[in-house]
Amino acid sequence: MEKTSRIEGFYKLPMAERLKIVKTFADLTDEEAMALAGLGGADPSISDKMVENAVGSFHMPLGIAVNFRINDKDYLIPMAIEEPSVIAAASNSAKMARVKGGFWTSSTPPIMIGQVQLTGIKDPSRAKHVILERKHEILELANKQDPMLITLGGGAKDLEVRIIDTQKGPNVVVHLLVDVKDAMGANAVNTMAEAVAPLVEEIAGGRVYLRILSNLATHRLARARAVWEKEALGGEDVVDGVVEAYLFAEADPYRCATHNKGIMNGIDAVIIATGNDWRAIEAGAHSYAARSGSYKPLTIFEKTPDGDLAGTIELPMAVGLIGGATKVHPTARASIKLLGVKGAQELGEVAAAVGLAQNLAALRALATVGIQKGHMSLHAKNIVNSVGCPPELVDEVVRIIVAEKKVRMDRAKEVIEELKRKKT
Ligand code: NAD
Repeated sequence: MEKTSRIEGFYKLPMAERLKIVKTFADLTDEEAMALAGLGGADPSISDKMVENAVGSFHMPLGIAVNFRINDKDYLIPMAIEEPSVIAAASNSAKMARVKGGFWTSSTPPIMIGQVQLTGIKDPSRAKHVILERKHEILELANKQDPMLITLGGGAKDLEVRIIDTQKGPNVVVHLLVDVKDAMGANAVNTMAEAVAPLVEEIAGGRVYLRILSNLATHRLARARAVWEKEALGGEDVVDGVVEAYLFAEADPYRCATHNKGIMNGIDAVIIATGNDWRAIEAGAHSYAARSGSYKPLTIFEKTPDGDLAGTIELPMAVGLIGGATKVHPTARASIKLLGVKGAQELGEVAAAVGLAQNLAALRALATVGIQKGHMSLHAKNIVNSVGCPPELVDEVVRIIVAEKKVRMDRAKEVIEELKRKKT
């Protein structure tokens, strides 16, 4: 029987019950389920292997977004995030998208760019031409650095040369285009860029300074799309409101920053849960959003001829299933198994779909009741817990301060004292 991620009332279950469902869904071992629960990841020696001067590890909540259907397959999505509402919003958005079949995705091959910066060149056009003439020699040298990647069908595939203007004159910038297969690819690409730099210098003259990958991974894009039926969203007014919200972001960088932040709420949470480099994804996303010279939304929302809402997203997605923390961190390994992704491209597409879902949820709330309504009870719970509320009083205090619209620490403390007095 096909597995379904459509789990009614998942959020109402106790944590242990949720974990049981997740464990069964992905056939996780006891050890993997423990790692998702954060128990296997508590071994301090893991931190010591990962970073310098380690003294311990930092734990973040890990939740599961339900209801995702992507390319006719159901996924439970692990999301590591400290912000309330995000996982609930993604799940709700995915539930509404199921009415029209869920999400559809595509991606380009995993080609990363390695940059070699040549300075002090008087005749940049000539330099560009001579480098291109010896492209095969440069690619061959790059490919000697990573026999493993070559065996897998990856490696340096092509080369581009750009001339850019700097305050100190032109730079000739060589781009090595490397197929990194299922790796994020930074180490592989950096090694190749460093290896070819002396040859590039010898060919073109000038002096090489930087040799490192670009996080603006324009050749490695993930895309997702979905249609939300107007009735599922709450009517045609909501569709119009979401389109207006998108157009606002399209026209105004102040709004656009927050629009794209909402997308990254979802994407980062998946990237972190799978042990990937979220700074790389963030850098790629925002620089891609600004590639035209002005800062634009990563998603587009349009009204279909039927009055439904069509959403699309496209962004660079340098994620891996090999290397970095993905293979070392037990929780990341369990998250990847839970996703059941076959390759890095599939992981990137899933992350893109989550980003689109996340954005729709935020825009729908903004265009209707406002973001705070959904946020408030979760936010109130954090406030109540942060002032040391006894566990048996938490729900009642939350209910009272939300109803009073006084979600503040001072009021939470007062209510706790009032309830304590009443109960004694
Ligand atoms: P890596 O070097 O650990 O692993 C990649 C290597 O694994 C490949 O070069 C290949 O030899 C081998 N491999 C085995 N099976 C493979 C497969 N199926 N597909 C591809 N390669 C396979 O990891 P990486 O992905 O090259 O580097 C990622 C790390 O680099 C991350 O931790 C990241 O944070 C870090 N980093 C990032 C930046 C940046 O983003 N600017 C810069 C430097 C380092």
